[in-house]
Order: sequence, then structure tokens, then C-alpha cells
Amino acid sequence: QAKNKGKNTWQFFNGEMEERIRLRFEQEQMLKTGLQEGAFFLHFQPQIDVFRRRLVGVEALARWPVPAGGTIGPASFIPLAEETGTILAFGEWVIQEAFRVIQFWSASGRPRIRVGVNVSSRQFWSPTFWTFLREILSRHAELTRWLTFELTETVLMRDPETAGDQLSWLKDLGIRIAIDDFGTGYSSLSYLSRFPVDEIKVSQEFVMRMAKSPRDLKLVKTIIQMGKSLRLNLVGEGAETEEEVRMLEGLGCHVIQGFALSRPLPQPEMESFWNRYLEEN
Ligand code: C2E
Ligand code: MG
Ligand code: MG
Ligand code: MG
Repeated sequence: QAKNKGKNTWQFFNGEMEERIRLRFEQEQMLKTGLQEGAFFLHFQPQIDVFRRRLVGVEALARWPVPAGGTIGPASFIPLAEETGTILAFGEWVIQEAFRVIQFWSASGRPRIRVGVNVSSRQFWSPTFWTFLREILSRHAELTRWLTFELTETVLMRDPETAGDQLSWLKDLGIRIAIDDFGTGYSSLSYLSRFPVDEIKVSQEFVMRMAKSPRDLKLVKTIIQMGKSLRLNLVGEGAETEEEVRMLEGLGCHVIQGFALSRPLPQPEMESFWNRYLEEN
């Protein structure tokens, strides 16, 4: 009896493992073919200086439409792409796309804005990525100053010394360096003075709680004060309400990115938003 039960459990476990491996393999193939077939696209979320009433930038956010309708968010496919290494080809595509829109928008006679691109750990630490960058950045030398790389503290702290050198190289080419989700990663702040960082993005984790939680509000205040005293650009992320926008502005964080201002938009909608914004302000 006991032996049978054990055997069944083993078989069940085995079957489940097989199923998981099969599913992962299937998803990995879908990612690869999706990339080859140009199934992915970018959405753009406005970053607005609410004090000066100016659109100063957008963040490029990857989207994956599925045949059933709707899209799969990056929170579910980026980790898979990281694990399987597909992130390298994917990341190259994102940067190519970013340059495509920067070029397009700069030719359209609109005011210049920055385009932020997320760079994940496996990308940043892969030699292939840097080979790719050397080539594409020299090809678009006159546009690199409109590109921002968003990196998390955790990515950089894996090897702070090498990261510092890489960031200096990027910065010399005019690329802006932003620390994404600031305050949620590494606990030491010393790196801020060692790395050539231009911008910190106040994590939405704090922004979303600050209206109700005095502790989170204190954290947001402290981050903003520190950013200002280090003369860094500040972007408040994840403001969903008018109240949160006003709170951030009141604390001196003038550039805001959040649903309260706009959701991430497909390129044509982003351009309409921009046109409307230019007319109104
Ligand atoms: P992130 O870089 O911190 O991007 C901000 C995320 O917050 C985006 O989610 C955005 O849609 C969401 N967001 C913005 N404002 C609000 C708000 O007011 N409320 C709420 N609830 N959410 C808001 P998204 O697009 O799902 O992206 C999730 C994460 O996936 C990103 O976080 C980034 O780490 C990663 N990601 C997205 N696109 C790429 C990419 O092209 N490459 C890489 N490596 N990672 C990417
Ligand atoms: Mg980001
Ligand atoms: Mg973020
Ligand atoms: Mg993030």
C-alpha cells in the first residue's frame, strides 16, 4: 500500500516536472519565433514635468500581443527571456526600436524628448550586449544623447567596479543613466557618488503607499531630498491619482510618470497625446 502510494507520488512528480519543462520549452520557442516574426512592440509612457508643463521623456515598455487577444506584460516574459538567454536578442531589438522612434520623432519637428530603455541584468553583464552597443551607438552617434538606460541597483552591485567603468563609457557617449525602482534594491547609498548616475526613479512601491502611509511618505521625502542635494534628475514613478501627483510636485519631484498622467501608449496614441499636450501647454 505504502509502496504503491510512493510510486504514484513519484509518477505524479515526474509527470508534473515533464509538463513544466515542456511548457517552458514551448514558451521559449514562442519567445524566439515572436522575436523573429516581429510580434513584439513597444508602448511609451509619458514623463511629464508637471511644474513646467512639459513632456520631457517617455519610457519604452515592451508588449507581446497574443493570438487570443490582449497582450502579455513584460513582468511575465522578461524573467523567462532572462532565464533562457533570449533577453540578449530581445534587448537588441528594444534598443533598435528606441533608435527608430528617436530618429522618427527628431525628423518630425517636435521638441526633443528622451527615450528610456530598461536594461536587465543578463544583458548588462553579457559581452555580446557591449559588442552590439559599440556598433549601434557609433552608427547613431548624433542620437545617443536622447537615450536613457534604466538599470536597477541590484544589477550594478553585482560588480560595482566594472559597472562603474561601463557606465562611464555610456555616459561619455551621451547616454543618460537612471536608477530604476530606486530604494528597493541595494541598501548602501555610497555607489551614488561612485557611479556616474544622472537620474533616480523613485520607486512606485513608495509612491503608491505614500498618501496613506506616513512611513512611505518619509521615504519618498528623503529620497527626493537626497536626489536634489546630489543634483540628480528625479522621476516619480507610479502616481495613479491627482493627489499623488500634487504630493510629488510639492516635495520637489517635478517629473512624473504614472497612470494619473497617462498609461503606456502605442506609438500612434503617444504621438496624439503629445500633439494634444503641445496644443494645451
Ligand atoms: P519598470 O521599468 O519599473 O517600468 C514601470 C512599470 O510600471 C511598467 O510596467 C508601467 O506600465 C508601470 N506603471 C507606470 N505607471 C504606473 C501606475 O501609475 N500604476 C501602476 N500600477 N503601474 C504603473 P510594465 O510595462 O508591466 O513593465 C514591468 C517591468 O518589466 C518594468 O518595470 C521593467 O523592469 C520590465 N520591462 C518592461 N519592458 C522591458 C524591456 O523592454 N526590457 C527589459 N529588460 N525589461 C523591461
Ligand atoms: Mg523602467
Ligand atoms: Mg520602475
Ligand atoms: Mg522594475
